[in-house]
Amino acid sequence: MKRDEHLVAPALPALAADVFPALAQQVHGQRLVYLDGAASKLMPQPVIDAIRDYQSRDHANVHRGVHTLSERATALFEDARESVRRFVNAASVQEIVFTRGATESLNMVARGLGERLQPGDEVIVSALEHHANLVPWQMACARSGAVLRHIPVRDDGTLDGPAFEKLLSPRSKVLALTQVSNALGTAVPIRYFVAKARQAGLITVVDGAQAVAHGPVDVRSLGCDFYAFSGHKMYGPTGIGVLYGRFEALDALPLWQGGGDMIETVTLHTATYAALPSRLEAGTPNISGAVGLGAAVRFLESLDRDRVGQAEAQLMDYLEASLEREPWIRVIGQGAPKIGAVSFVIDGVHAHDVGTVLDQFGVAVRVGHHCAMPVMQRFGVPATARASLSLHNTQADVDELLAALAAAKERLS
Ligand code: PMP
Repeated sequence: MKRDEHLVAPALPALAADVFPALAQQVHGQRLVYLDGAASKLMPQPVIDAIRDYQSRDHANVHRGVHTLSERATALFEDARESVRRFVNAASVQEIVFTRGATESLNMVARGLGERLQPGDEVIVSALEHHANLVPWQMACARSGAVLRHIPVRDDGTLDGPAFEKLLSPRSKVLALTQVSNALGTAVPIRYFVAKARQAGLITVVDGAQAVAHGPVDVRSLGCDFYAFSGHKMYGPTGIGVLYGRFEALDALPLWQGGGDMIETVTLHTATYAALPSRLEAGTPNISGAVGLGAAVRFLESLDRDRVGQAEAQLMDYLEASLEREPWIRVIGQGAPKIGAVSFVIDGVHAHDVGTVLDQFGVAVRVGHHCAMPVMQRFGVPATARASLSLHNTQADVDELLAALAAAKERLS
């Protein structure tokens, strides 16, 4: 198939530099081709504007003030919470806790559930997890004497469902699973895993960090107890994220940090605590981050998500096909359904060197272990290069990636 036989419409026509100002610049004298959205999405203008407006006009501390700016800041902060609630279809804003990011959300759950684990209990994760959904469970197991079990990854990058079902036993207490692998792009059939785990009575925790920007999320229809994600992977700012928890599950978590805002009354020796979500949000929150995240939600809601999803899937097919066509490129986890990202190696060339040469061509990809070292160990590679897609990417971006890869191979091998 020739490239031009496979014309893929961009997710959004004429989106590029008008909406994402970072794309207006050149890198090393070349047009910026940003293929690193899985690490962090570029920020669209409406999000930048919302943060700037908040910072320049409305900034004050939330919840405790009676003056106009504080009331405005509080309204914006709580509006953002409502936007997030709507975005994931949670039943109530009490189920939406703002955190620093997916990492903090997952630590909050692992620490909290870890306090209830008994020696011999089992926590199931997959061998595909980002360290953020692996190390906190290792820590929880080390503290409690529980045992960590792993759903194996097949050669094609998919998870082994039958092996998972064999792991389920009366000892199993928690399933903590990624919805989309950041390292390989594998789209995990999350409904199947959550449903099986629920039938077996497990608490279910979903790491949605790589999923939220790429399709609708409905935590109620998914039926999970907890769902974690980060603002910056869905076109919002860094330093803000979300822990969704089904009310009863979230309310049963122990306190996270003590301080202002999470209390009801305090004496010199005792305290009583606020209701959700405040009881898990001690201290002054990241107000501008929340405002930016709310704007990111509205930005995504303003798009035709079905059309965008279709266009992203087509571009993903094009990217995979373009990489697989080259005999000197090896896609890791070839064959797995993927969302947003694909990992590959050029045999005999270190991924870091590939990334450095690509940067000279203005092409930004991520290289390394992608905070998923066990995935690298599973596939016997020290590192991979990962190209990942955002709304602004086009077929021309993929073609430039391939041209830059060919130049890198020429230079490095
Ligand atoms: N889970 C997955 C699948 C991720 O891709 C990431 C970020 N790379 C995280 C968790 C952690 O997100 P953050 O660093 O924003 O807390």
